[in-house]
Amino acid sequence: MKIVLLGPPGAGKGTQANVLSNKFGVVRVSTGDILREAVKNDRDADLLIKTYMDKGELVPDEIVLSLVAERISRNDAKGGFILDGFPRNKNQAIELENRLKNLGVKLDMVLYFKTKGSTSIERLTGRRICPKCGLNYHIKNRLPKKDNICDVCGIGLIHRQDDKVETIKNRLKVYKNQTQPLLKYYKDLGLLREVPGDLDVDDLFKKLKTLFANENLI
Ligand code: AMP
Repeated sequence: MKIVLLGPPGAGKGTQANVLSNKFGVVRVSTGDILREAVKNDRDADLLIKTYMDKGELVPDEIVLSLVAERISRNDAKGGFILDGFPRNKNQAIELENRLKNLGVKLDMVLYFKTKGSTSIERLTGRRICPKCGLNYHIKNRLPKKDNICDVCGIGLIHRQDDKVETIKNRLKVYKNQTQPLLKYYKDLGLLREVPGDLDVDDLFKKLKTLFANENLI
């Protein structure tokens, strides 16, 4: 299974990517996570990358592309991968195609998580994250057992800097201008499948399972 998840911030791509990765044993490649990790581990990267991320702007293509190329060429990605948050513009999509061609593989499907702007804002402003394991919570509908503490790691949850309302609005604008045109790009390639991002996690997973079965991906 080699798939791309497309959709606005807050569409539930990351949450569903984790579910799919666990159920089907394929690697989740989240460029947001890879970039946050790079920021944590490297002071130079911190200065360069964090400024873009904190404003909700796209990190320059050459940085993202080299990180993704390295990740998908690793052994554990040979059995399949779920790209979450990549590609995010036309240049990244074309580069992805070139690199996959070099690896002798093709994308099976691009899933578009169609989601209302109001849903994105509601989900992201209420989202809280474990800085250690990355598990997502929500202040209204996915509460941890203990107030603001990760159920798994037992450490304090954080509100991501770019999940503040002004930055979310910019992320939605960046999505509309730079990422949304990929819908037509992948539709023209016959790869695009639309699914309702507003559904809850389990219902959406059921839908995806049926879709994958119909298209012989599982
Ligand atoms: P995400 O975790 O997918 O919401 O991404 C968080 C931030 O990381 C984005 O707002 C961008 O600043 C950066 N980012 C993630 N993926 C990409 C990408 N494919 N290209 C450029 N920037 C990205």
